[in-house]
Amino acid sequence: MTRPFPDDLLGLPHRRDVPFARLTTLGVGGLCRWLFEPTTEAEAQAFVRACVREGLPWRVLGGGSNLVVLGDVETPVLRLAFPKLVQREGSELTAPASHGHIALAEAATQAGLSGLEFASGIPGSLGGAIRMNAGAYGREWVDVLTRFRFLTPEGELVERAPEPGDFRYRGSFLTAGHVVLSATARLATSDPETIRAQVAEYRAKRGTSQPLSRRNAGCIFKNPPGQSAGRLIDAAGLKGLRVGDAEVSPEHANFLVNHGQATAAQFAELMERVRSRVLELHGVELEPEVEIWRD
Ligand SMILES: Cc1cc2nc3c(=O)[nH]c(=O)nc-3n(C[C@H](O)[C@H](O)[C@H](O)COP(=O)(O)OP(=O)(O)OC[C@H]3O[C@@H](n4cnc5c(N)ncnc54)[C@H](O)[C@@H]3O)c2cc1C
Repeated sequence: MTRPFPDDLLGLPHRRDVPFARLTTLGVGGLCRWLFEPTTEAEAQAFVRACVREGLPWRVLGGGSNLVVLGDVETPVLRLAFPKLVQREGSELTAPASHGHIALAEAATQAGLSGLEFASGIPGSLGGAIRMNAGAYGREWVDVLTRFRFLTPEGELVERAPEPGDFRYRGSFLTAGHVVLSATARLATSDPETIRAQVAEYRAKRGTSQPLSRRNAGCIFKNPPGQSAGRLIDAAGLKGLRVGDAEVSPEHANFLVNHGQATAAQFAELMERVRSRVLELHGVELEPEVEIWRD
């Protein structure tokens, strides 16, 4: 069933029936029936305002590296397609939310700016990274974020510095229709070779501990306070557990990998089996880090 959208919404750049398999790193999911791809902040704001006026819900998609999408999605999906321009002012870098996250870390390295080394192995977009407060190796976005621009669920454009309580471990207030538009990081000038050495060390660590040769969505569950989700799953003997082509990675228990033909339903079932087995054995309720979309 298709929804009748008003002319101003349909006048914005959009595509129909795009498979989520092409929009997510896990490579599964049904069709994105309505994919809106604004190229300017004004278009993004027009999208949100039109949705608000029409009483339509919407979803925001970045690089799809933290998502499992079940079935087709009729709800309009917003994916920013802003020009990928990075601006430097002193030791601060500002980039649009649609900028590739790893590419931004690389831009910082090339500029001789230290502080985004942690981001060098985290895929997706900058907007997704801000929303998720992405992090690794003891650092996360809130450590370097100085300003960010976003749309409220009412379509108001706000630019401000982070405030206490805005960000937490792998989360933020930027849910339920908020749209991150751009972000500024305060970095430190450093020698590019030193930065490169740190990036290489982090990449080598990932290369040995993560199943990067197969499609995945990074860590599936958040680490419970003081514990490691991967260790709990491993101790439950679940490495290698498979539902169809979806498998708990034998290399890293908190990664689920796609052997090629997996479906979103298989990943959802595998997640449920892992969650319930860990609860049964360790008494710990694992909370998904990946987001699950279903209409
Ligand atoms: C191999 C691999 C390694 C990973 N390693 C790490 C890691 O070390 N640390 C880590 O934290 N994560 C890691 N991840 C997970 C993932 O890369 C991050 O969560 C990433 O920041 C998600 O960004 P995205 O653009 O892909 O977001 P998506 O997956 O597209 O979306 C995730 C959430 O962000 C929201 N969102 C996306 N863009 C915007 C926007 N512009 N405004 C508002 N909301 C938005 C979506 O609505 C959704 O709620 C890894 C993933 C993979 C595949």
